[in-house]
Amino acid sequence: MSNTQEKVLIIGAGGQIGVELTENLSKIYGENNVVASDLRKSDVFKVNPFEVLDALNKDALFSIVKKHNITQIYHLAAMLSATGEQNPMFAWKLNMESLFHVLDLAKEKHIKQIYWPSSIAVFGPTTPQENTPQFTVMEPSTIYGISKQAGERWCEWYFKKHGVDVRSLRYPGLIGWKSAPGGGTTDYAVHIFHEALKNSKYESFLSENTALPMMHMEDAIRATIEIMHAPSENIKLRGSYNLSGISFSPKDIATEIKKHIPNFSISYKPDFRQAIADSWPKSIDDSFAQKDWGWKVKYDLPKLVENMLVNLKEHNLVK
Ligand code: NAD
Repeated sequence: MSNTQEKVLIIGAGGQIGVELTENLSKIYGENNVVASDLRKSDVFKVNPFEVLDALNKDALFSIVKKHNITQIYHLAAMLSATGEQNPMFAWKLNMESLFHVLDLAKEKHIKQIYWPSSIAVFGPTTPQENTPQFTVMEPSTIYGISKQAGERWCEWYFKKHGVDVRSLRYPGLIGWKSAPGGGTTDYAVHIFHEALKNSKYESFLSENTALPMMHMEDAIRATIEIMHAPSENIKLRGSYNLSGISFSPKDIATEIKKHIPNFSISYKPDFRQAIADSWPKSIDDSFAQKDWGWKVKYDLPKLVENMLVNLKEHNLVK
């Protein structure tokens, strides 16, 4: 089937990833063929068809799929790591039930393909933290991580049992200038740029040497589109692929920012998110993604920092 016949639905399109994914998928399929949906409409969606949708409402989801003849769903709605710890039962309900609704649509042949993101939060304190392998001990300690780990197993099961074409990436912390982060443990690495440009200082909620796997949003969007366009037989893992960008700590990113803003200073006041960060990998081995569907990262830390500072300033987006 050619690209022009695809009709895409993005669930959670108003979030950090959704805004940029909607824009990028629109370039491929045309704005009219990419339907954005979220709990409420955001001003960013001026051209794409938009539907107000609660991902927990299976009937409403079904109606939208039928109304727009949807062929693919990118299911991004979730409660993230930090917010999930404040509201564990609802995080579990949202993250799991909404996934079942989407998987069932494919099982019942209403749609052909699903993208569902997992996270480095599937790993836990017993996982080897350096160059974390694709297959390793996984004992996540957050509700978010538990829901992503369970989700991975369900995706794999739907593929094996029902032939559902579902594809997934374990995103590291994502850093972009076009949209705000939504309550994760790596959000500091976006906030720091806004504060650096506004006040030349930042108080980090993670300690100075807490290295975590991170990635520029542009790389993450490209990875998402590449895995969805890869031939089905190349997607050998139907749980989720490790995906590696760069690994850095608050101190590393502050040092890089100082090269552009010499009077920038950083202080450290770790909060509850420190324990979450401590349970996650410091760096990721993504050789399976490289081998199976040709993944290659573009942004290193200097390029990422320069790109963030230039674009936030140029587009007047400092908050
Ligand atoms: P986000 O919080 O910025 O956006 C999520 C969107 O989902 C929001 O616009 C929210 O309004 C919407 N939403 C929440 N509940 C909903 C519901 N019931 N029905 C419909 N929409 C609802 O999150 P994000 O950072 O864009 O993340 C998207 C996905 O990627 C999530 O599954 C997340 O776990 C995963 N992920 C993100 C990161 C990251 O660094 N951003 C890292 C790893 C994984």
